Parts: sequence; C-alpha cells; structure tokens
Amino acid sequence: MARSTLESVLEVDEQHIWHPYTSTTSPLPVYPVASASGVRIQLETGAELIDGMSSWWAAIHGYNHPELNAAVSRQLDNMAHVMFGGFTHRPAVELVERLLAITPEPLDKVFLSDSGSVSVEVALKMAIQYWQALGQPEKHKMLTIRSGYHGDTFGAMSVCDPVTGMHELFSRVLPTQFFADRPESKPDGVWDEQDIKSLEEALRRHHKQIAAVILEPIVQGAGGMRFYAPEYVRRARQLCDKYSVLLIFDEIATGFGRTGYLFASDFAGVHPDIMCLGKALTGGYMTLAATLTTNQVAEGICSGKAGVFMHGPTFMGNPLACAVASASIDLLLSSNWQANINRIELQLREGLAPCRGLAQVADARVMGAIGVVEMKEDVDMATVQAQFVEQGVWVRPFGKLVYAMPPYIIDDDDLGHLTRAICHVVSQAG
Ligand SMILES: *Cc1c(COP(=O)(O)O)cnc(C)c1O
Repeated sequence: MARSTLESVLEVDEQHIWHPYTSTTSPLPVYPVASASGVRIQLETGAELIDGMSSWWAAIHGYNHPELNAAVSRQLDNMAHVMFGGFTHRPAVELVERLLAITPEPLDKVFLSDSGSVSVEVALKMAIQYWQALGQPEKHKMLTIRSGYHGDTFGAMSVCDPVTGMHELFSRVLPTQFFADRPESKPDGVWDEQDIKSLEEALRRHHKQIAAVILEPIVQGAGGMRFYAPEYVRRARQLCDKYSVLLIFDEIATGFGRTGYLFASDFAGVHPDIMCLGKALTGGYMTLAATLTTNQVAEGICSGKAGVFMHGPTFMGNPLACAVASASIDLLLSSNWQANINRIELQLREGLAPCRGLAQVADARVMGAIGVVEMKEDVDMATVQAQFVEQGVWVRPFGKLVYAMPPYIIDDDDLGHLTRAICHVVSQAG
C-alpha cells in the first residue's frame, strides 16, 4: 500500500475510528502525531507541542527515551510474548521483585494484567473471592467515595462517581455499590472530623455486606482532579480494620512519584490490602497494570472452594511491557525524582497563581507534578484545544478542568511556556 496522504489519514480516521468518549456522527478534530521525543510532540503538520499531559499520567520520562527504547529492543530480540499459563520469564519476575521492593510492606503477591480498568476488576474479584472463601459470601458489595474514577469496565464503572460515571445509562446492568461523601479537607489544610462521618456511617450500617472500600488515595483523578487530606486515608484504614472490610488503593494515577511521594499511600503512611497500579508503570510505553495483595488475602482466596484466583488474561505478564516497566522504575529511582517533583510543584504553583484572580476561574491548585485550574463553567473543548495547539502546548481539558501533569523531565523553560499558555487560554475562556 502506498503511503497515505495526511488528508486521507484524517479522512479514514473521521469515517472509521472511535476516539475516547467521542461521537462518530459529530466528531471533534483530532491532531495527527508524527513522532514524539522528550517533552515534545511533533504533529504531521510540522507543529511542535510541549507535552503537558504525559499521555494521561503515563509518559513520566518523556517520549522516545533511549534507555526505555533499549529495554524494549533487548526484550524484542528474546521474545515479544509468551503465554503466562504454565510459563514464567525473567521480565515478569524482575518486575515483580521491583514492585514488591517499593510498595508498602505487607503486599506480597502480584497479579499482572493489561490495563488499569482490568487491574481494578481483578482487585474487586479478589475482595469478593476472599470473603466467599471465608464463608461470608454476603460481603460482596463495594464502598467508595463520590467523585472517584476507577476505569471504564463494568465493575470499575460501578465504583466511579454515580453522576460523572453515568450510572444512569447502565443502571440495569451495573452492580449497585455504596457511596460515601467525598472528603473536603485539603492535604495541607486543617482536618475536619466531619469528613469521615459519611464513610463511618456507611461502614457501621452496611459492613456485613461490604467486601472492600476502594479509594484513590489523596488525589482523585478523572473524577474531578481533587486533592484531599491524608488523615482521611488513615481513618479509612482504621475503620476498615474495625469493621472487617478490605481496603483497596487505586494508585493507577498517583503511582510512581506524581504526587511527590512514590505512592500516595506513602503520604498517608498506611498500607492497603490490595493495590492497583497502571498508567506510569511502563513509563507510558506499553499497556500493563498490576494488582498487588497481601499473603493474608491471597491465602484466603486460595483456601476457598474454587481453590484458585479466577482470572487470567491472554496477554498476562507481557514480556515487552514487563521489561520496559522495570527499566522505567530503575530510571525513576536512579534520578533525584523527589527534588525534581518539588521543582515542578513550585513552578506550577508560581505559574498558575495568576489564574486564581480571574473571574471565570473557581480554583487553582497544585500537588506534586499536577496543576489544576478549575473553571466555573465547562470549557468548550474544541475551541480550547485549538488555542492550546496554537500556543504550542498539549493540554487536554475535560468539563471544568484545565490541568497539566507534564513528564518529569520537563525543564523550567518549557514548564514556564506551559503555565503561561494555560493562563492565557483560561483568561480567554468564558
Ligand atoms: C486511568 C485510571 C483507571 C483506568 O485505567 P485504564 O488503563 O484507562 O483502564 C483506573 N483508576 C484510575 C485512578 C485511573 O486514573
């Protein structure tokens, strides 16, 4: 086949391809990417954009990184993939050793899967199988907090915020779960005892039906880009222990340093019974996720009637993905990542501060390498996106939220460019 023209690429895309959360009958424009390197994304049109999104929290080391490229190439020379049923391989083993070394102590068993949503499904199934095995099958519901996001598959969707997660649309098929009010206390503010009451009440009333509480610790991502107090996470741990409920941390967005802590659970200083990782796990190279759990949960599950954990994806433990994940973790840990995130945090604070005073802005907040400008009204995505591209940056807002979470390798100049572009576009909006 001859090399397609840019026009035909866009035409085929428009006529045949779904993008995330889009209409095929009135599609929004998409920008054709030719290549990406470091913090820069090159469009087919010749334009060059500074990346403010890390491709949805994932590309923490930037694009086309020589060490990550080399890790994939090396592994490719051995094998791209082999089934994980009955086989094991070094890439998986070496990755799991690394994960256990850096995650909270009691986590000891790792289930590798393909995507964040699947790792959440796996976590929910682990919790349900655990109580089933312990002779308490009535403990099969989940409890979570509003404004959360845990993925797009059915189990994951059932614990997303009921409003923004569009539960109504799927109400006939979604499992119904319990929801507590979201915490309002800020990470650096005063703890309001009132914040925990809703979770406490839900546990007190329904713990006999609840298998697990699932939370995004400290940072709620796609459900609203909200930051909340570590005390809430500590209290959730205490309450889960008191009421015999497992605690699941979804660290798919927060994992691998984004908040200024390697994991957000480190900020709170508490461990989960089950932990989900994804997104930055492979430095944005390949799709891979992991669900980690304790010996206690694993032994419980395996003592049940099934005798095994009932899950096994075709591409489980993909060697290419595992190899690049190990390389990405090594790259992160060998860098002065904490100082670097502090640098980005300071500059985001300074750079986004001017947005605060604008009439159309409700709030501007920063935590680690996450900067959020919350508008009073929804922004017009197509208009705002085009303005960002014109400014030479890649920022993709949703709803009222204009936010940046750049690759950790971004330098001060590019970060300045990025925050100025955000302030400019935001000042034009509404
Ligand atoms: C992105 C995300 C997921 C879903 O991950 P996918 O890889 O998109 O399936 C789940 N939980 C959180 C907190 C996320 O940010």
